[in-house]
Amino acid sequence: MSELNLILLGPPGSGKGTQGERLRDDLELPYYATGDILRAAVREGTELGKRAKRYMDRGDLVPDEVIVGVIAERIDRPEAADGFILDGFPRTDPQAEALDAKMAELGRKLTAALLIEVGDDEVVRRLGGRRTCPNGHVFHVELDPPSKEGVCDVCAAELEIRDDDKPDVIRHRLEQYHAKTEPLIDYYDRQGLLERIDGTVAPDEVEEGIRALLATLRMEEEA
Ligand code: AMP
Repeated sequence: MSELNLILLGPPGSGKGTQGERLRDDLELPYYATGDILRAAVREGTELGKRAKRYMDRGDLVPDEVIVGVIAERIDRPEAADGFILDGFPRTDPQAEALDAKMAELGRKLTAALLIEVGDDEVVRRLGGRRTCPNGHVFHVELDPPSKEGVCDVCAAELEIRDDDKPDVIRHRLEQYHAKTEPLIDYYDRQGLLERIDGTVAPDEVEEGIRALLATLRMEEEA
């Protein structure tokens, strides 16, 4: 396949991050996760971080104009010439339109929007038990506990609950997802780019599903 320009869609906690990292390693493409980019900016105290923090703490989306430029700059990097994996972007209609405009400007096309489907109850269960370390490693108190409670297995840092993984903020993030991001399912369906993936099964199985799908897309392209 000439280029592989992928979007990961799905509610918070659907496993976009897990699958995005696996795809990055598997396909050797850059992986741009806007949530990670924004959290790093907050930690580093950059202008972007200062603008984004209060929205993120509440579980609101940051304004479109804050995030669109960040992604437009990344997909134009030489490292993204063979493709990219976007996680958490676009999240609104204007963001999707801005991405289309940037792709058109670059003479490129999206390959697929992979929708990882998980229901609200499962999202609440997953995010409520999520523990993260400052370096981005993720655990779950029930589903994937670290060997020593409260300590990261990878880098031994103390595990924390993300501010936006607190119960009332989780509910708010879900509302935002349904109101602002879910319309993108139709948006990409209309363009023939939408691919649905069952996100309720084990991560290895989700990964298998995505691999199979990408293999089919490759075959269709070659046919
Ligand atoms: P995530 O890690 O993807 O759940 O993102 C964490 C938070 O970052 C979200 O709740 C938003 O406040 C913000 N954020 C991430 N991506 C976007 C985006 N594309 N548009 C607006 N806000 C975003």
